[in-house]
Amino acid sequence: MNLSLGRLAAALLGLALGAGLGWLIGSFSNTAAWGAGVGAFLGVLVVGLREAARAARFLEWLRGAQATPAPRDAGFWGEVGYRVERALRLRERETEAERERLRQFLRAIEASPNGVLLLDAGDCIEWCNARAADHFGLDPQRDRRQKLTNLLRAPAFVAHLQGGAFDEAVEFTGPEGRTTLSVLVRSYGDGLKLVLSQDVTERDRMDTMRRDFVANVSHEIRTPLTVLAGFVETLASVPLSTIEQPRVLNLMRQQTTRIQTLVDDLLTLAKLEGSPRPGADRWVSADALLATAMTDAELLSAGRHDLHLDKAADVDLAGAEGELASAMGNLLSNAVRYTPDGGRIDVRWSLREGDGCAVFEVADTGIGIAREHLSRLTERFYRVDGSRSRDTGGTGLGLAIVKHVVQRHGGELQVESEPGRGSRFRLVFPAARVRQRSAAALATHP
Ligand code: ADP
Repeated sequence: MNLSLGRLAAALLGLALGAGLGWLIGSFSNTAAWGAGVGAFLGVLVVGLREAARAARFLEWLRGAQATPAPRDAGFWGEVGYRVERALRLRERETEAERERLRQFLRAIEASPNGVLLLDAGDCIEWCNARAADHFGLDPQRDRRQKLTNLLRAPAFVAHLQGGAFDEAVEFTGPEGRTTLSVLVRSYGDGLKLVLSQDVTERDRMDTMRRDFVANVSHEIRTPLTVLAGFVETLASVPLSTIEQPRVLNLMRQQTTRIQTLVDDLLTLAKLEGSPRPGADRWVSADALLATAMTDAELLSAGRHDLHLDKAADVDLAGAEGELASAMGNLLSNAVRYTPDGGRIDVRWSLREGDGCAVFEVADTGIGIAREHLSRLTERFYRVDGSRSRDTGGTGLGLAIVKHVVQRHGGELQVESEPGRGSRFRLVFPAARVRQRSAAALATHP
């Protein structure tokens, strides 16, 4: 309102000034009335032209990128420029805040452990995070706006996407054939789709392992149970002679021992998996461990093998005594069981030069193991020769236990073997869990 009045006043002022000036000039030649008319017209024209020039300057600014401030004219156009510029800057700030929110949102989706992919109504890729690109083998930039089904060679997923029933996730093999993907599709908006992908390779592997494990345990228990059930049936129907009785009872005892050993090993494994790592401050006497392992091995060998112990280091170990005894015992029991009578077994306790790791080594001159089996020896129930293992009381869990124990103590299990020549198993314990015996003696008896 004020601005309109101002512009009216400017026009009237122009008109009055023009008319006055025209009248003055015209009065010299007796044409004062004409002069006033022409002067008024010119006055209004000047005011109009000035307004037009300001409007043109403002329009010019509006047409541009508005990177510079709006023209700062006085009056109407100055005020319009100021207000338009303020509104523009406000909108810019709001847009920038929106953009920042969107960036944060996308960053959050990028950080998601799952793949996120947005499809338009024609199943073309609108956007995807790096994880989804990795899962589907896509290039987020190059493949944008491409039809997803043209880029994937996964018939199960393509059929799922085209089927339109998205209640359940679909599973299929990833683009390089190494992963299993679980993908969930959700529709939203006007035919748009949100595709969530998850790498379930590890979960599948664990499921398979669990199934195999249950099948193996059932199989291992069923065999001796079937034998026992057979004996029980026989005993129920046929009275045994005094000569047969001890033989049958002995066979039954063997089968129950087999089940017992298996259950013991299973419980040991379960305990190893479910308990925290042994502390590095509980010192165990290596002498005691070695003595027990050697006595047990000699009992098992019953003089059939030539057993030697070489204590090349005077160090103790930090860890769980029971676990360490079980690991050493398992290696020695294997050496006895897989070395024919008359063979030699060498046990050595030493310090490795350079890094100070303690090494427990069992070397035998037994049947040895072919190279292709070496990497699988520590798998549960993996046996190179199943019947020899069972005949000698093996459960197929010994080396799995050994590996668990040594890993829980921060060390590693090493195996070298050659068929027909023998095997060498080593438990390597880190220097942090090794202590010189003299230091230990000093600590306890200062
Ligand atoms: P098992 O109870 O069958 O001995 P382990 O887990 O202790 O189970 O060993 C797995 C397999 O590794 C054994 O079945 C055997 O075939 C092989 N093996 C282990 N130790 C030796 C060894 N000292 N000499 C030859 N083969 C061995």
